[in-house]
Amino acid sequence: MIYLDYAATTPVGSNVLEKMRECLSVDGTYGNPSSPHSFGEKASIAIENAREQVASLIGASPKEIVFTSGATESNNLTLKGVFFGPIAGKHIITTEIEHKSILDTCSYLEKMGAEVTRLKPDSSGLIDLDELENSIREDTSLVSIIHVNNETGVIQDVEKIASIVKKKGCLLHVDAAQSIGKLSIDLSKIPIDLMSISAHKIYGPKGIGCLFVRKGLERNLQPQMHGGGQEGGLRSGTMPTHQIVGMGKALSLAQERMAEDHEMMSKLKEQLLAGLSGIQGMYENGSIERSVPNILNVSFDGIDAELLLHRLRNKIAISNGSACNSGAIEPSYVLRSMGLSEDRVYGAIRISMGRYTSNEDIDLAVHAICDIVANLRS
Ligand code: PLP
Repeated sequence: MIYLDYAATTPVGSNVLEKMRECLSVDGTYGNPSSPHSFGEKASIAIENAREQVASLIGASPKEIVFTSGATESNNLTLKGVFFGPIAGKHIITTEIEHKSILDTCSYLEKMGAEVTRLKPDSSGLIDLDELENSIREDTSLVSIIHVNNETGVIQDVEKIASIVKKKGCLLHVDAAQSIGKLSIDLSKIPIDLMSISAHKIYGPKGIGCLFVRKGLERNLQPQMHGGGQEGGLRSGTMPTHQIVGMGKALSLAQERMAEDHEMMSKLKEQLLAGLSGIQGMYENGSIERSVPNILNVSFDGIDAELLLHRLRNKIAISNGSACNSGAIEPSYVLRSMGLSEDRVYGAIRISMGRYTSNEDIDLAVHAICDIVANLRS
C-alpha cells in the first residue's frame, strides 16, 4: 500500500517520537509543567525549549507562541477571540476556500451578529488583491486568509496581503497549517498579526499546534478555554509536554530540511505530472506555478473521483481533498468556488507527497491511475 495523502497527515518522524517518549516515561519529563518542584521545572524547561524551536522557524519571539490542540483550535481562538474581544468592528473578511474550521466558525459568528465577506478565488485558485482591498470597511476588524490551500496547494501571496491589510489598519490572520515547514515565512519582516500552525502536517504528533499572537495583541483576544490560566491566560489546560516537545522537534527538523524537502517534492511532482500527462483529458486544478510542490490536484475527463478512489483503495491512499464525517466523498467547495465545471469538481483527486515517498511509489501510482482511468473509460 502506498501512502500519498501527506496533506491529510504525516507519520511522526522517528527522532520526534524518541523526544516524545522521553517526556512520558517514569524516568522522563512527565511532571506537570506548572508544578512548583523539580519534576515540573524539568517539564517547563522542555516546553520553553520547544517554544523557542517553533518561534525560530517563523521569525517570532517565543513569547508570541500560544500552544493549542491544533490549527482548528487556533483558527477558532482567532476568530472568536477577536470578535468577542475589545476590538470594535463586526466585519470579518475571509475567502470561500478556507478550511472548514474558518468557514464554520464564521457562520457561527454570523449568528452572533458578525458580518462576513467571503472572497472568491479566480479559476487558478488565487484571491484578487484589489477585491480584497476594496472589501475592507471602516468596521472591518479582521482579515483571515489561508496561506496554502489544503486541496489545491495554491499559495496566496501573504506578503502583499499583509501590506494591503495593515495599510487599512485591521488585523491579519493567516492559516498556515499547510505551509508551515514547506515555505519559509519570516514574521519579523511580514506584518501578520496572528498565524495558525499544526504539527501533524509536518511529521509532528496530532492534537498539537499553536497560534502566533503578535506581541501586544494578546490583550485583544478573548480566551476560549478558561481554567488554570496557562499560556498567559489565553489557553487554559495542563500542557501536554510530550506533544509540545514533539512539535518543537518536528518544526526544528523542518527548518533544517526545508530546502532539501522542497527540492525532493519538486522532483516527485515533476515525475508525477509527466506520468499523468500521458492520460488524455487530464486537467490540473489550481495553478501549478503558484502551488507547493507536495500537492497535486487533478481531474480526468469523464471519470468520477469516487469510483477512481474506490478502485485505488487497496493500492494507493489518496484523497479527493474533503471527506465529510460519514466518510462519504463530498464534492469540493474549493474547486466549485474556483468556478470549475461540475465534471471536474466531481472528478478531482488530491495526491500529496512527503519525505517517505519514493520514485518507485510515484511510478506505481501513475501506472495504477492510468490503468484504472483506461478501464473506467472503456
Ligand atoms: N487549516 C488547514 C488549511 C488544514 O489543512 C487543516 C488540516 O486539515 C486545518 C486547518 C486543521 O488542522 P488541525 O488538524 O491541526 O486541527
